[in-house]
Amino acid sequence: MNWKRRFLNMSAPGYDNSAGRTPPPGFSGILGQETAKKFLKQVMANRKVPHAYLFTGIPGIGKTSTAMAFAMALNCREPVEFDACGKCISCRQFGRNNFPDFLSVVPKGRNIGIDRIKEINRELGFAPVSGGYRVCVIHQAETMTPESANAFLKTLEEPPDGNILILKTTESADLLPTIVSRCQKVPFQPLPASEIETWLIRNRGIGPDVARLLSRICSGSPGRAIRMYESGFLEKRKAWLERLIRLPGLSKLEALDTALACAEEDRKNGIDQVVSGQPGMLDMLAVWANWYRDLLLLKAGGTKDRLVNIDFFDHLTEISAGYNIDSIIAGITALNQAQLDIRRSRNVNLVMIHTVLGLNRASKTSGHTEDE
Ligand SMILES: [Zn+2]
Repeated sequence: MNWKRRFLNMSAPGYDNSAGRTPPPGFSGILGQETAKKFLKQVMANRKVPHAYLFTGIPGIGKTSTAMAFAMALNCREPVEFDACGKCISCRQFGRNNFPDFLSVVPKGRNIGIDRIKEINRELGFAPVSGGYRVCVIHQAETMTPESANAFLKTLEEPPDGNILILKTTESADLLPTIVSRCQKVPFQPLPASEIETWLIRNRGIGPDVARLLSRICSGSPGRAIRMYESGFLEKRKAWLERLIRLPGLSKLEALDTALACAEEDRKNGIDQVVSGQPGMLDMLAVWANWYRDLLLLKAGGTKDRLVNIDFFDHLTEISAGYNIDSIIAGITALNQAQLDIRRSRNVNLVMIHTVLGLNRASKTSGHTEDE
């Protein structure tokens, strides 16, 4: 196979040179994640670059940007303090999104199947086109089937020269231990809300009030904050919270209708924003869980500045007075369980009926309302 053929192969389904990202200016352009950046620079300083990494952490906190910055720095002709110069030929190729030795492997449907892994194994057997390092990023590595993961073990253990593999996942526990043990672990941490708030205002030109709200509800993920801003998430969230606020006043039958309406929305919008780009059921459950967290915080004497849903402060204060702590904790537990159940079984109808009726009942037993 000549180099042209190999280059074309990288554009085949499942390969995407950038996973749709604009290449970052290098490590210096990534918000936070100082420990991860320091570790990767140290790796380069040691001149003994391990060949397999596992980047862990919630979506949107900079794992892909860091993988790209690492690939840029490794291939840069004139790196500056182990960061890419941004000017040399390979940096410019990254800038145009056409560096030939950066591969992104994404799930097709729900999985990264065995055929895809066989393609990667074959592809990595050829020398990198640029003569430097080929960096192959496996996104959502947890979606490798057991068969795929096993077929990837040998490559992960000892990839052909010049290849660096970066697996990305939220939690390493979602991967087979045999995969995890072959990788250098690089954990990525959620960022403080204050840091995200400042970044949204200064770098994205978002107004202070919206930036403040986004920084609270994005769970420490700047990427998530941006997606929320751009996808109409804030309007969705408001509707979801209003639905939750109405729930205690509903009869069982009305609560059942609400649960079915939630499940119907899920059919339209997909499971969550990470997968479909649209706010989905898991996002709604997370918003509801944060609501209960805020109720608990207020019940325990917490102040407004520690709330997630700062724009609903008055509602939260009024509602928390009607709940007892046990009911709030039961709500949080039910919502956490619902998120787990939906991820595992995808039987959204059943999970939602169980959860919504449970919340409806809990609000009544807590003395929140006598209306049934
Ligand atoms: Zn460069």
